[in-house]
Formats: sequence, structure tokens, C-alpha cells
Amino acid sequence: MHTHHSALGVAATLRPVQPVTLVRPHAARRAARFFVEKFPGTSMYAVKANPSPELLRELWAGGITHYDVASIAEVRLVRQTLGDAATLCFMHPVKAEEAIAEAYLDHGVRTFSLDSREELDKIVRATNGATDLTLCVRLRVSSDYSKLSLASKFGVGVDEAPALLLATRQVADALGICFHVGSQAMTPHAYGNALERVRAAIVAAAVTVDVVDVGGGFPSVYPGMEPTDLEHYFDTIHRGFESLPISYSAELWAEPGRALCAEYSSVLVRVEKRRDDVLYINDGAYGSLFDAAHVAWRFPVKLVREKESAARPLNFSFYGPTCDDMDHMAGPFALPADVQAGDYIEVGMLGAYGAAMRTGFNGFTAGDTVTVTDEPMASLYMPAEQPSTVVEIA
Ligand code: PLP
Repeated sequence: MHTHHSALGVAATLRPVQPVTLVRPHAARRAARFFVEKFPGTSMYAVKANPSPELLRELWAGGITHYDVASIAEVRLVRQTLGDAATLCFMHPVKAEEAIAEAYLDHGVRTFSLDSREELDKIVRATNGATDLTLCVRLRVSSDYSKLSLASKFGVGVDEAPALLLATRQVADALGICFHVGSQAMTPHAYGNALERVRAAIVAAAVTVDVVDVGGGFPSVYPGMEPTDLEHYFDTIHRGFESLPISYSAELWAEPGRALCAEYSSVLVRVEKRRDDVLYINDGAYGSLFDAAHVAWRFPVKLVREKESAARPLNFSFYGPTCDDMDHMAGPFALPADVQAGDYIEVGMLGAYGAAMRTGFNGFTAGDTVTVTDEPMASLYMPAEQPSTVVEIA
């Protein structure tokens, strides 16, 4: 794998025809260290956000020892990449019975989530009535404070939660309660309110709870979305957790995806055509810009030229490379007004749910992956006074 200082070095030397993924291992390791040092419990990385083996190794080096996996393919990948020392938790509440059996028997997975009696029965069957399980009941909580809802699909409602908690307690060696406040939660209240639901469920069921897992949802920084410091989130969670009616030995877990990997990568794209304020670029809705297209997410952009443009900024939208009208990213993306075909653009903060969403539709696939050593276009973890970009040829 090549290494360059920045996107400019890659554009100048490689003149890439396909989109190039620029990875910043140092940014992933910094995010991992932050969670390991500051989150008041165990942080497990939600592998779905970006399953790259290089990223997994970087997070491991940064101190992340626990991994939230959601499919048998993710179970195998993490085992293969990180070996037996990694702890895997299978936190998808609806799993194939065969996947549970393989995870338990072949990969040492002992923690599973569920949100129904059917899933509990499935886990008991697939593990042959194992007595060494940590089972986490997924509670339905509000996604009101988050940019992407996860409130409809999974989770048991407050009314049915007590019965499921009691039934799970009968089977589990350790009983957990988990939830997910939705992705990119813009205020710590999201967690405070969800922990109130947890309290109500514990009181109603009168069970002993060994694990409280606050899920993912920790935000990253994007244009128009600048969350407060993660430490405020951690404080709110810590206070909420400490006030629950649980024993002193109960554990606090989280499953950050986005916050651990958003800064890890960006994508260098080429402009193939300009039509007024619309740029036709070589990556899009079926590539790493899925969220930019489907949920109108705004990512930071930067024109990558040796001589910086003096033109005023103009708002652009993008079309991706496939023959589909839906391959459209509305933005707006602010770039110098003189951008033209042949120019390269760096689209930042694509480490989470970027590369992970890529398809090969229409024959447009990923190009090279290149390591760069400059800073990401935004950061939750860097001191504010540090410049976020450095322009210089590698
Ligand atoms: N945990 C579970 C169960 C999830 O479904 C997800 C995302 O869908 C995550 C963790 C990661 O969420 P985020 O990337 O918002 O931190």
C-alpha cells in the first residue's frame, strides 16, 4: 500500500481514474484511545460501520478489545483478523439459528442480544441450553435526538420488556439491557432519556441486571452538525448508569461505530463533467456516498489542486457515475467556482458507512487505498487550534 502526505500527493502522482480511499490510521487509533481512556466502561467497536481489517487492527492497537458483530461473516472476519483474544458480542436482535450455533461453538461468542421470546428460544436451541451466556434484551428507545432513526425496527417496548427480562433471566448467566438511540445523536439527552427507560424496565421487572449497554449513536463532525464534546455524553451516561437500581458489580458497555471510524477515511474523486452547478463525479450513491445520496448527508469537500483556487465558493450538487437518476447527492457542497472536469475533490469523513456501503453496480468499483498522514477534514479528537489540512506534495 502506498503512503502519501495528503490527497494532493495522491492526485499529483497517481492521477487516479477510479475513486481512491485515503486512510488515516493515526486518526482511528486516536479515536480508540479516547474511548478507552474516557468512556466510563467497556467500548466495543460496531464492526458494521467499517469492516476493514486494517482498521480493525488499528483499533485493536488503540486498545479496543471488544467488537459488536451483527452477522456470521463479521464474526469470522474479526476472529480471523484479531485472533482469539478479541471478545465478540453478537448484538443483532434477529439472527439465523445457524449463525448463533457457529458463533457459539466455533468462535467463542458468549454474548448475544434479543428482543423477543422467539429469539431467546432460538439462542437456547442453538447453544444446546448453554449456561455461560450473557444475554442482552434490546429495549426500544426514542431516536428523536438522532439524525438516523433506529427506533422502529428493533427493541421490545416498555410494556412487554418485564416479561422478556424475566424469561431471559431464567436462561442467562448474566443479564444485560441494551438499546440504540439512533445514529449521530446530537445531544447527550438521548442517552439520559434512554437510561430512564432502562430504569423503568428494571423496576417493573424487579430483576438483577448485570450489564447496561448504551449502544452506538455517538456523533462525529459534519458540515451543519457540530456536536458538543463526547465527554459530555460520557458524563450523562455515567450519571444515568450510577443512578440505576443495579448492583455495584454491574458493567457499563457501549457500541460506538461512527465515532471510532468516521475520521479514518476520505475519498478522492475526479470530476468527469461540469453542468452549471452540478458536478458529475466518479463515486456516488452505489459507492461510498450512499448516505450523501439517500439521506442527504453533507460531507466536507475540498478541491485538490497544486495551486489553490482564488475563485469564490459556490454551492454544488453531485451526480455519481452510474446511469441512475437516484445517483444524486444534493449537498450543497461548497467548492471554488472554477472547478472543472479533470479536477480532483477530496470528500472527507467517509470512514463510517462509506466504504462499507460500496457496491459494484454498473461496473464502478473502488480504486486503490492509500495511506495519508495529514489530519482528517474535521475531528472530534484534535485540539481545536491545530490546522486540519496541510497542502504540500508528498
Ligand atoms: N450497535 C448496533 C446494534 C447498531 O445497529 C449500530 C448501528 O446501526 C451500532 C451499534 C453503531 O452505531 P453508530 O455507528 O451510530 O455508533
